[in-house]
Amino acid sequence: PTYAYEKMRRQLELDMKELWFTVRGHATSIGTSDFEQIQDIYRLLRSYLLKLRQEDGYETYRERETQELSKIMQNRINTLQNPPDCEKAKKVVCSINKGCGFGCQIHHVVYCMVVAYATSRTLILESKGWRYNRQGWDKVFLPVSDTCTNALGSSRADWGSGNHDVQVLTLPIVDFMKPRPPFLPITIPSDIAGRLEKVHGEPHIWWVGQFVTYLLRMQPQTQVLLDEAKSKMDISSPTVGVHVRRTDKVGTEASFHPLKEYMVHVEEYFAIREKYEGPVQRRVFIASDDPNVISEASRTYTGSQWQIMGDRTVAQSASVAQRYNGLIGIIKDVFLLAECDYVVCTFSSQVCRLAYEIMQTKHADASGRFVSLDDIYYYGGGSGTIQKAQFVHKPRSSGELELEVGDKIGVAGNHWNGMSKGTNQRTNKVGLYPSYKARNVFAKVNFPRDKWWTQ
Ligand code: GDP
Repeated sequence: PTYAYEKMRRQLELDMKELWFTVRGHATSIGTSDFEQIQDIYRLLRSYLLKLRQEDGYETYRERETQELSKIMQNRINTLQNPPDCEKAKKVVCSINKGCGFGCQIHHVVYCMVVAYATSRTLILESKGWRYNRQGWDKVFLPVSDTCTNALGSSRADWGSGNHDVQVLTLPIVDFMKPRPPFLPITIPSDIAGRLEKVHGEPHIWWVGQFVTYLLRMQPQTQVLLDEAKSKMDISSPTVGVHVRRTDKVGTEASFHPLKEYMVHVEEYFAIREKYEGPVQRRVFIASDDPNVISEASRTYTGSQWQIMGDRTVAQSASVAQRYNGLIGIIKDVFLLAECDYVVCTFSSQVCRLAYEIMQTKHADASGRFVSLDDIYYYGGGSGTIQKAQFVHKPRSSGELELEVGDKIGVAGNHWNGMSKGTNQRTNKVGLYPSYKARNVFAKVNFPRDKWWTQ
């Protein structure tokens, strides 16, 4: 396919969604039967688009191309992690023990690995005494290197100490990184950006997914446990994954959302599939830190079309999971979510973002396979999402943003009602604008060759 074709196909899907969000946002001012008719047409159009993708003859290309790009990346990371001479290799040292949950810690290690990749250094991961497994990373996942695991070297310094040419460089957590290099997520590598942007609608998430995939290679005994969990659930297509984050997160970092709010989107997904497939078994995999959510779903969605799955026994809050061997539980939940065709969750949770990143590596162009009830995708401690205005926007009320074509907008969030909020970097004003009038743009970084320390 041409680049223009792929871009247009994805744009069509994005804008159809925005059209629907706009209608939904105005549901109260539309009569019920009109609303239902619009919804029906919307579902039909989305199903045509899905069908079109299946029928256009390019799906094998998409699969081959994403697999090939993954292979390139996995090879590069593997080569970097296994230098010919560990004694002479340049290294970055990263301690996993950031004081936070599993998703957060993995994102912390991903950041370290991005620094390692960008600076052509081998990542040394320090994990003894890890809060999720005292014996360390290697008890659960494959070591990040087969040949080079010690942090020894002839010279050593901390990132930011001014001396970046030492053999061993120790990294802080991302929030304390000074100077901040230009390659932190969300960016994409310029050497494969052309191929990647053609084949993937969310190349920045695919990119993070590559590091996650390398890191989370299981030890055989972990794989056995994961396979066991998989065999108990039927995650065959179509299955929607739902992640409901409750316990310590609610009221501190995110709002409470009732199960029903998630399930509306699950129903929407199946309704679109059913437009062209006919009735399907509505399989739903539910993961949560609160076991009651799984019981509630099983109690509520009882019709024969529903198949509600989820393991109450692995649902644990972060504080409990750290103390009582909760690592395997969260690994199972994350990987089963990633196996699903689609996820409905809150992107404020690192657990769901992690699952979505892994999902990107399991399908050809898995962009758009999510509904988030709150945030857009982001990378904590990285740079935020930037959009470029495609159309002029004249404010219709005081809270709206004026846009000229080409304006860059720092996005604060999508309100999922047709409007997004952001800062116009030209005028420095903050306000709302119709989401369809702007598109994501990604910083392309020429790594690993950048001379970042001179910037
Ligand atoms: P966040 O707080 O949701 O952004 O994500 P973190 O990963 O930083 O912390 C959440 C922690 O809560 C996880 O690491 C798990 O220990 C636990 N948790 C959250 N959601 C789930 C879930 O769906 N299943 C299981 N088993 N544990 C979860």
